[in-house]
Amino acid sequence: MKNENKALSGWDAPYAAAPESSSHAKIKKQYDLFIGGKWVKPSSGKYFDTINPATELKIAEIAEANASDVDLAVKSSRKAYDTVWSKLPAKERGKYLFRIARMIQERSRELAVIETMDGGKSIRESRDIDIPLVSAHFFYYAGWADKLEYAFPNRKVQSLGVAGQIIPWNFPLLMAAWKIAPALACGNTVVLKPAETTSLTALKLAEIIQDSGLPDGVVNIVTGFGATGAAIVKHPDVNKVAFTGSTDVGKLIQKSIAGTDKKLTLELGGKAANIIFDDAPIDQAIEGIINGIFFNQGHVCCAGSRLFVQENVADLVISKLKRRMETLIVGDPMDKNTDIGAINSKQQLKTITDYIEIGKNEGAEMFQSSCSLPGKGFFVRPTLFTNVAQSHRISREEIFGPVLAIQTFRTIEEVVEKANNVPYGLSAGVWTDKGSKIFNLTQKLRAGVVWANTYNKFDPTSPFGGYKESGFGREGGMHGLDAYLK
Ligand code: NAP
Ligand code: MG
Repeated sequence: MKNENKALSGWDAPYAAAPESSSHAKIKKQYDLFIGGKWVKPSSGKYFDTINPATELKIAEIAEANASDVDLAVKSSRKAYDTVWSKLPAKERGKYLFRIARMIQERSRELAVIETMDGGKSIRESRDIDIPLVSAHFFYYAGWADKLEYAFPNRKVQSLGVAGQIIPWNFPLLMAAWKIAPALACGNTVVLKPAETTSLTALKLAEIIQDSGLPDGVVNIVTGFGATGAAIVKHPDVNKVAFTGSTDVGKLIQKSIAGTDKKLTLELGGKAANIIFDDAPIDQAIEGIINGIFFNQGHVCCAGSRLFVQENVADLVISKLKRRMETLIVGDPMDKNTDIGAINSKQQLKTITDYIEIGKNEGAEMFQSSCSLPGKGFFVRPTLFTNVAQSHRISREEIFGPVLAIQTFRTIEEVVEKANNVPYGLSAGVWTDKGSKIFNLTQKLRAGVVWANTYNKFDPTSPFGGYKESGFGREGGMHGLDAYLK
């Protein structure tokens, strides 16, 4: 069949275009700040544009909060904590969370469409992964709200107060859920700042929260840039800071709250090793590698961005991998056939293409799928590098894009040493037929999460977090509650 969706997907695919409709998504022209249960104009009167990275067209205007807006949000959060939320029976807190979880399910289609429009990720991902996980997190923590004494036996659990939460753009609504649901379940109130390029779904969540009848001020959403985040971190009446983002900003935050009694969790960058042994089920492993690095355009802190293949199967794995990469559909994120959507921003696209140049200049050998790319929007071809040395920047630094650096190894000792020899330690993957090898490696790999014969699997019941420069503290599971309790 002649390619019918080339214009949309940029791929010579034998599929007709299957775009998801966006007509049901209700998006306002302009969004104010969500403070004290109301929409409040930013005191500076300033708004900034949020665009669709697949079309470069403006979607809406978003309010820019400054320090005095943040102060208002913290004050309303404090008032809600002191007068309502900390006094409410735990069972009642749980009911609100259950209600929000159900409302997210009811509006999941609209949320998925807006997530894809604003952030560039494929509709398949936002529909099948992000939004279902968002409601799953609210359901999970709703269930814990009145059972905290069972989660922490022999301990008198007590909430912290006002939590300041700052999140990145790669899983916008999911990161908001990771932060808000456990904080509320434990009896805290919240001031949350989404990333500047992906504020819309957090603002849609604010609408849901308003409709749910959650007491005013329990959740406040302030939008803006880095300075808005910094104002939250510095605010003297914030008791807890939860940050997910880059290691550089994480370090700044750690410095800025040093000497205060604020509690802190940091979820930072990663450079995960995905390790393929010669006894692995190779075809399954290929899918795991593809999922590990090309899922969500590689905008994943735990992306399997370093591939280690046992030497005797390296040629086979690499040739199968290249063949599979050729079949990936890159293009319109709203098309249900699309595997790889748009890069989140022009700036991130530049970071990725700069790293591809760095890889070539360092002497690694590049392979890219031969697909064509749409004329507009921010797109990049899935890319892999072979002949990569441990010292190359592409194998040490976080690229946060669909770029894979491949190295080979002979022995377990060698691969453990190479895998651990980066400043990060967020996640890793192991592919082998032998359970004993898996247990051996999970002991030795310095990573918060180790997946065995799978990759990028998330569940609200399992804790997530890093070692070393990937941060500290855990989110998810019972561990995620601990971060919001005295
Ligand atoms: P980022 O630049 O660190 O930004 C994260 C958030 O912090 C954004 O909301 C940002 O606002 C805000 N911010 C920027 N400067 C700040 C400051 N001085 N004080 C307080 N807040 C500030 O990270 P990103 O580029 O958005 O996200 C990508 C990074 O997140 C990657 O490194 C990735 O590995 C990491 N990540 C980690 C995890 C994990 O669980 N470990 C999960 C997802 C992502 P603006 O965006 O408006 O500037
Ligand atoms: Mg956007």
